Amino acid sequence: MTSKAKPTYDAARIEAARQAVWEKRGDYLAPRPADGQDRVYVKPSSPFTSGNLHMGHVRDYSIGDAYARFRRARGDAVLLGFGFDAFGLPAELAAIERQEPPAEWVAECGERMLGQMKRLGFSFDYDRVFYSSDEGQYRWSQWLFLTLLDAGLIYREDTPVDWCDTCQTTLASIQVEDGRCWRCHNEVRLIRRPTWFLRITPYLEENDRNTEGLQNWDDLSLATQRYILGRSDGVELDLEGPEGRSLTVFSPHRQALGLARFVLLSPRHPEVEAWAGAQEVREELERMRSGGWERSARDARSVPIVDTGASIAGPAGEELPVFVSPLVDARYGPTAALGVPAVDEADRELAGRMDRAVADEELGEGEETPPAPGAREAKRYRANDFSISRQRSWGTPIPIIHCEQCGPVPVPEAELPVVLPRDIKPTGEGNPLAERPDFVDAACPRCGAAAKRETDTLDCHFDALWLWVPAAVPPADRDERMFTHPDLREWLPAERLVAGNDSGGFVFDQRVVTKALRDIGPFSFIGDGEPFAGCLFHEMVIADGRKMSKHLGNVVNPDELVAAHGADTVRLAVLYAAGPAKTLNWSDGAVRFASRFLRNLWIYTHDRVAALEGVAHDPEAAADTEHLRDRLRKWCENGLARITEDVGDLQMHKAVRNITRLLERVQDFEKRVVKRRGQLDRADAEAQIAALALLAQVLAPFAPHTAEELLLASGRFGEGELPAPWPGSVAIPVAADSAATAS
Ligand SMILES: [Zn+2]
Ligand SMILES: [Zn+2]
Repeated sequence: MTSKAKPTYDAARIEAARQAVWEKRGDYLAPRPADGQDRVYVKPSSPFTSGNLHMGHVRDYSIGDAYARFRRARGDAVLLGFGFDAFGLPAELAAIERQEPPAEWVAECGERMLGQMKRLGFSFDYDRVFYSSDEGQYRWSQWLFLTLLDAGLIYREDTPVDWCDTCQTTLASIQVEDGRCWRCHNEVRLIRRPTWFLRITPYLEENDRNTEGLQNWDDLSLATQRYILGRSDGVELDLEGPEGRSLTVFSPHRQALGLARFVLLSPRHPEVEAWAGAQEVREELERMRSGGWERSARDARSVPIVDTGASIAGPAGEELPVFVSPLVDARYGPTAALGVPAVDEADRELAGRMDRAVADEELGEGEETPPAPGAREAKRYRANDFSISRQRSWGTPIPIIHCEQCGPVPVPEAELPVVLPRDIKPTGEGNPLAERPDFVDAACPRCGAAAKRETDTLDCHFDALWLWVPAAVPPADRDERMFTHPDLREWLPAERLVAGNDSGGFVFDQRVVTKALRDIGPFSFIGDGEPFAGCLFHEMVIADGRKMSKHLGNVVNPDELVAAHGADTVRLAVLYAAGPAKTLNWSDGAVRFASRFLRNLWIYTHDRVAALEGVAHDPEAAADTEHLRDRLRKWCENGLARITEDVGDLQMHKAVRNITRLLERVQDFEKRVVKRRGQLDRADAEAQIAALALLAQVLAPFAPHTAEELLLASGRFGEGELPAPWPGSVAIPVAADSAATAS
């Protein structure tokens, strides 16, 4: 043994060897849960098929994978599921650029990305990978469309929608950021056209209520849910208008109702037509709705206002002029609100632009106006129904046939899927689907007359509404039982979603649709209608203090890092560099740190194991260092307790820090023994190897390849005992579980 050369840390060799074993053994295929075993479905984010993992993905999957490995090691049945969000503009635009059908581009990209993920050692059940653009998959998006349509949760309306001239498509309001297109960042405008909407308003209150009780959701993810909900608390009261008309108005300023100076109506308020009676007012309103006013103009200084000319009696009896403005929507949704310039900055700005409203009074500190009779507690939500149809060809075809006699008729479920032609080659202008008679021409399912298929497709946001479901169903059963498979009850709700903090909108709508499917039937077993029992959002990865972009030339390529340092180093570096709630400003420092740590640990462990054989035992010497071994044991116990809590909380940066500290302690132990006795006794050496083996066990979720090789080298685990269980000598509950029982 002593003559054996020091094993160098050859990451490529180690990682290839471990990955070959995992694959051969099927270590990460979703198990059939045994009785009494906890079922843990970990759902990382579903990326677009862009062709390359970026560092944000590496961060996401390194966290999710570490958590999945940890739960497996603790004896739970774990499903780490994965699928691609493969429809939509990003793939379509990339395909246009390369002049190839999007279907081919998506397949190439998916293959490449899966290769990257396997090289990084992520323990997904790769047999369950799916693409939202596969027929067998989007068939169920169409089923979901018909199911929600049938339940009255999808409707079609000729309405102003956000339109991007560059991308030539309508956008959902959550795809509009500061008046700009989420995709191309150009300004968007409102146009009118028939559009399909998903009705989320019936579930806003329940989403709101549930948000307060969500256990195991981190602050970042909860904050996004509250932001998207956009709840305002206040009062509402019924005002009496001319000709016996009344209007319910909302205000968050309950203490200053008497200082209301005008009423502001949303252009989408159901009664707006009644208030905008005069011809010229209607015309002005129409211009506002369809005239292409820019989204960015939606602040109080420049937002359009239409004076209806009408007035209504205010809470203090005085006449309040009634105006229409989309500013209401941006603040409280499609409602009517009191304008109270005395206490509300935006209302003051507006009043300054109105001939008929005077902001004359102020409310002093602690002052209140008399309570308005009939005022009652009320709340409003800014979140609203969103458009789901797009004029693009790379998307799920909407299963609707337009018949001149019957109107829009749903395609019967038995005829699903409505197949998207695979050879379609978008050009970027118009919708090529509309140019394909083989797609467009169809018989009306109701009367049999010649009719036309809907050529709008579903936005990929719609596919995403159920992207967390397919991984829970064995691929062979997906055609028949995607929403009725008994395994759904095993795996759902997902124990943990791990996603970037820009996923709040997706998650919010997934929560809505889960509740709808609960009420409709398929998900009746998810009582609270929550798809994710736990959720961790993480911030993005940037470089040089800026977002990574080709344009800035600061893109960090995971492949290059893995080739240079190995997967374990990259994983450890990403986790160590920052806590999930912090933006990760990438630097080589983290890689250097992780690389040095793994190398040191590798050499140190192998050296100590190799030396063990030659170490003699002397009872007297052993007795003299007993207290030091005791201390080492305590360090191990404390370290294990901390690390267990950290990983259970998905605070992987803390866990990695505590692991590196544990190595320092093991080294410190040796120094103290040597200082006292000149050398280690066999009892010391064995205690030290035990500590190093424990260290490798807790390292396994983060740097699984290196950790498993070290466990084998320690002689304490055979190949058949890997992946090793989480060390159990210290009984510490997972923080996640204890949080659930503590409340
Ligand atoms: Zn755009
Ligand atoms: Zn018909």
